[in-house]
Amino acid sequence: MKKQLLPLKKNVYKTALHVHTQVSDGELTPEELRDYYKKHGYSVVAYTDHEVLVEHTDLAQDDFLPITSYEISINAKQKVDCYDYTKTYHLNIYLPDPHANTHFAFTPSTVWGNAVNYINDEIAKINYNREYSIDCVNDVIKRTNEIGGFVSYNHPFWSLQDRTDYIDMKGVWGIEVYNHGGFDVGYYESYYPLDELLRQGVRVLPLAVDDSHNYQQSCGGWAMVMADNLTYDEVFNALKKGDMYSSNGPEIKDIYLEDGYVYVKTSKVKQITLTTDRRFVRTIHASDDNGIDYAKFYIGDYLDKTVEHNVDKDKAYIRIFVTGFDGSTAWSRAYFYDELV
Ligand SMILES: [Zn+2]
Ligand SMILES: [Zn+2]
Repeated sequence: MKKQLLPLKKNVYKTALHVHTQVSDGELTPEELRDYYKKHGYSVVAYTDHEVLVEHTDLAQDDFLPITSYEISINAKQKVDCYDYTKTYHLNIYLPDPHANTHFAFTPSTVWGNAVNYINDEIAKINYNREYSIDCVNDVIKRTNEIGGFVSYNHPFWSLQDRTDYIDMKGVWGIEVYNHGGFDVGYYESYYPLDELLRQGVRVLPLAVDDSHNYQQSCGGWAMVMADNLTYDEVFNALKKGDMYSSNGPEIKDIYLEDGYVYVKTSKVKQITLTTDRRFVRTIHASDDNGIDYAKFYIGDYLDKTVEHNVDKDKAYIRIFVTGFDGSTAWSRAYFYDELV
């Protein structure tokens, strides 16, 4: 029986999940960014300015949807008077209500730059106690999840973080595997934290984002979101469910399961890989410069061994990634055992 892993919906919307504007430290106005993204084929932009939540519903058009969100930072204590050494958690908080003013993790002392202009008396009364700990991070995630939102964990490499900082993260929605703004200046994020969390059974999505502050940092990493209509609810829920894939180049057109095989259809690429929680990886390579746009992988033995070897099924997953001739990548989300049987 055929089972879609990438859902079939009427539309696929190109989405920027992480951008900064003049509301915080970006160079462009929210409107300039909208127009630039639209020109490059985007339909959705999540405005994630630093520290303050500012809605941009006024920018919505028939073919453009702004998502209400913001980015908070939870900084470690500085040992010397210089931010260059400071570990920090950067989290994007995405809200299910476009008109939300849910500043529950707001801390006045962390607001800097233009963002100070967006604090009003009501918001200023909130003073969330941020401390650099996984408990604080998990509390922010839990509060966001409780109101139907979701949280991404941003650029761990730029943030000077390692396994000890994120391995106990719970309920997190996505983790950045590609940050175009960081890449632009030389910070190479990686997919390694993604698999570390997945191997703990955390169902976290791989995210390719821009973290853009100007035109140059825009349109380099995106999500393709499957939904029937360009409404806030449909797009937000598709993101939340993981009805999407991430990319900085290749296209994934279809992923489905049939009779023990995973079938993958893509744009022309150099290779298509299926990787898992264990030492079970398969790659189909292009035999010439024409590339490939299709692969099939047998996972029947992978599933059988999961049972035979008594593997914790909550930690058993497959995921697909696709590599272009220029080294660019597209990442599917992870599909766990319960979705594969
Ligand atoms: Zn950040
Ligand atoms: Zn950012």
